[in-house]
Amino acid sequence: MRFPGLSSPLRIFTVPLRSQPARSLRHHPRPISGATVLRAAPTIPFLGSFFSSSAKFNTQDDSNMSYPDQRSPDAWQAVLSPEQFRVLREKGTERPFTGEYDGHYPSQGVYNCAGCNAPLYKASHKFKSGCGWPAYFDSIPGAVTRHTDSSFGMERTEIVCSNCGGHLGHVFKGEGYPTPTDERHCVNSISLRFKEEGN
Ligand SMILES: [Zn+2]
Repeated sequence: MRFPGLSSPLRIFTVPLRSQPARSLRHHPRPISGATVLRAAPTIPFLGSFFSSSAKFNTQDDSNMSYPDQRSPDAWQAVLSPEQFRVLREKGTERPFTGEYDGHYPSQGVYNCAGCNAPLYKASHKFKSGCGWPAYFDSIPGAVTRHTDSSFGMERTEIVCSNCGGHLGHVFKGEGYPTPTDERHCVNSISLRFKEEGN
């Protein structure tokens, strides 16, 4: 398959010319491999797609999971803003450093699910990660469910509201943050609604 047209000149040309086409042939593999890389490039995750579109997650058991709150997509659309719907119900991601709770550090209170209002995180779970999204080192026990997310060519752990299945974000481990768990629940602000009372 490699430049078949070049192999016949090699055979036809006699010894004095042999070195020149042979050298040029050796140079061909570089453009070939370069072209291969270019063809593969579109499959590499494009950062912009994180924020501009909804991921179609290949989550384990996601379609089989049943949550106590079983509202239909139409019912969710009726109560959520378009951006909330995109993130919570279509697993979108808000742009970093833009969310309402990114720089929000109350001394007490609870962050509820913006969809179903289930309590998810306490103010005392929140820490400054610098990542651009609200970060929590732990959740209220049982409030958050984890799934494997293989979208964008990566293996990550998606976190959803255990009550309605609403997409919250992802959880990352072992990053070295000085917190009790060394876990970072990286949550979209728009998936949350803070309540001062009830800590
Ligand atoms: Zn919920």
